[in-house]
This record gives sequence, C-alpha cells and structure tokens, in this order.
Amino acid sequence: MLTETPEGLYCEAGGFHIDPWGAVPRALITHAHGDHARPGSAAYLCTDASAPLLTRRLGPDAAFESLPYGQAITLGRTRVSFHPAGHVLGSAQIRVEGPEGVWVVTGDYKRAPDPTCAPFEVVTCDVFITESTFALPIYRWDPTADVIGDLVAWWNTNGANGLTSIVFCYTIGKAQRLLAEIGRLTDRPILVHGALLPMIEVYRDAGVVMPPTPALIERGRGTSLAGELVLAPPSARGTPWMRRLGDLSDGLASGLMRVRGVRRQRAYDRGFVISDHADWPALLETIADSGASRVLATHGHAEPLARFLRDQGIEAGVIRTAWEHEGGADDFE
Ligand SMILES: [Zn+2]
Ligand SMILES: [Zn+2]
Repeated sequence: MLTETPEGLYCEAGGFHIDPWGAVPRALITHAHGDHARPGSAAYLCTDASAPLLTRRLGPDAAFESLPYGQAITLGRTRVSFHPAGHVLGSAQIRVEGPEGVWVVTGDYKRAPDPTCAPFEVVTCDVFITESTFALPIYRWDPTADVIGDLVAWWNTNGANGLTSIVFCYTIGKAQRLLAEIGRLTDRPILVHGALLPMIEVYRDAGVVMPPTPALIERGRGTSLAGELVLAPPSARGTPWMRRLGDLSDGLASGLMRVRGVRRQRAYDRGFVISDHADWPALLETIADSGASRVLATHGHAEPLARFLRDQGIEAGVIRTAWEHEGGADDFE
C-alpha cells in the first residue's frame, strides 16, 4: 500500500506521500526535523502540535492543514490518523488503513519519557515501517536522569574551575528536552545561542516548562561567563561567536556519543549520551508491540535490523531514503 518512489514513500490508494524529500502534491509529515519535513510540496498535513514548528521551518506560505492526535480522516480509499511518537513536540506515527490492511509509519520515535512531548503510543498494525537510526545492539541508553545528573555535576565542576560550560545540541527537541530536564534540578538561567530561541519559544507556547533562557548576546561585553551553562547548535562550534565564552569546557548531547565517543572525545571534552530515538532494546520491544506480520526498516541501520528480524523468522525488508549518507543522523537528529 506504501511504495518507494523517487520522491519518497507514496500511498497510491490515498494519493499522498509521507515525509517526501521531493516536491509532491500532498505531503503527510511525521515531524519537523529536516530529514522529514522538506519544502516545496503543494500541501502539507501534520499534527496540530507540529504545525507551529513546521511553519517556522517551511515558511508561512506553505499550505498547511493539521489534525489532533487520534482523529481519523479519509484520504482517497484510505483512513489516516496521527499518533504520538514521543520523539519531539508534535511528532507522530502515521496510521494508514486501506485496501491492504493497516500500515504504520513511525517516523522517528523513542519510548523513554520526555517532558517536552506526548508519550509514544503503541499502534497495532499489519505492516510496521520503523525507523532504525540506532538499530545496533551497542546502542542502549542510560536513564535520562543519570545523564542529566552527570551534566549538572560537570557544569558545577567547570564553574568551580572558572570555566564556562557549553553543550551543543539540536535545535528542535534536544535543546528543549535538556532545558526541561535540567530545570528539574535547578532554576538557574541557561544561556542560549540566538539560533535556538525561536524553537524554544514554540515549545514554551505549547506549555513546556523550562528555566529562563536569556540569549547570550544580552550579556554585556566584558561580563565574565565563567560558571554559566550555554546551549548552542553544533553549527555554532568554531565560529567567532565562541570567543565571547572565554575559557570553556564543551560537550555534545547525542546518541552518537555512544560509539563515536573515542573519535569525538578528541573534539569534545564530554559526550552526553541522550537520544530522541529508540535504542536497540526499545526498537525490538516496539516491533513486537506492533503485532505486525511484516516489518520494513528505514533511516540509519536498516539493513542490520532487517537481517536480525529475518533471523528471528519475521518477514522484514528495507525502505531506502535520501538520507543514507554518513552523518545523516548527525545533521538531523
Ligand atoms: Zn527526527
Ligand atoms: Zn529522522
């Protein structure tokens, strides 16, 4: 019912694409990250909670419609509904019911609790198209509270040593999750790079509680930033903007720090392994929960996951994406 086309995943019975990378007449979008929400399509359909993020990403002229989670609509010969994926604000799995049964496209998802978005909902189906960004047995996440505890302890130690702490993180999802989680331990303000502010505002408007986030630029020139914690997108690293920080210690918050740690350790003082994607045990648990008789893996380590499932006697295959290049998850996670 869903097939691969040059523009991305296509549903002929419903007349729509899901997360297409090419321009199409009608795009259903799982969430606002750059490898899922591309500009240029004539019409978009997403969740209500995702709409403000997508509007900022794709511009006010894009034609949007949005739906609340769980509300089904008819598109062609299909019924379509969006269900929480627990990945970032507004993220959804898309359920498509049609002539060939029930298919679910997860987009990106995680099972770990996240105070910034609705929790993942199990949706049973016949065919389950799952993301596989971190689908290798080496990827297992520690409890979020442990990682955040380490981060705050590192921040305190840096302060005692007269250093500014800077953590690089992605603009949609990771930054807000860090803020909300750190805010459970301290109400100290956290300085942010200006590029993070618009999406932080969208999260605040959605009711996500975070500590105060003054922009770094608001601190007067010559004011010491020693002891402060700063969040910035990875693209800010190595730019002249960094000079303002003074003596610093830096870290990257990403699931990638689990294996690329050795390589990264040379580049970053600290790696904080915190991901908005399902780890290996959560992927397998979710595939089992779906009850699907056929599984298709996409994004990241799709081939190893499909092979593993086939070895378990599960019918499994791979859906290719335009984002298979090395560092894809790096750029878009
Ligand atoms: Zn994503
Ligand atoms: Zn993705």
